[in-house]
Amino acid sequence: MTNGDEHDGYVAGRYRDGSLSDEWTDVARCAGGTFTRYVARCACGWSGRPRPATAAGASAARQEWFLGHVMSLPLDAPAPV
Ligand SMILES: [Zn+2]
Repeated sequence: MTNGDEHDGYVAGRYRDGSLSDEWTDVARCAGGTFTRYVARCACGWSGRPRPATAAGASAARQEWFLGHVMSLPLDAPAPV
């Protein structure tokens, strides 16, 4: 989502076995039922709250990453573009 080194946000899907998809998985392209939840994640290790595995859940997760994480970073941290 960004070119920043530290803060690269994405929506991860939680598989039925509890593991999370990686940064390169486009959860919107996976078959329905692949994931039980969507979770916003950031390359720095931050993760958001579990969301329903729906399009609305994905956009809520993306919004949470930006508003709840990126916007709360210290001002001297490199800002994602
Ligand atoms: Zn981050």
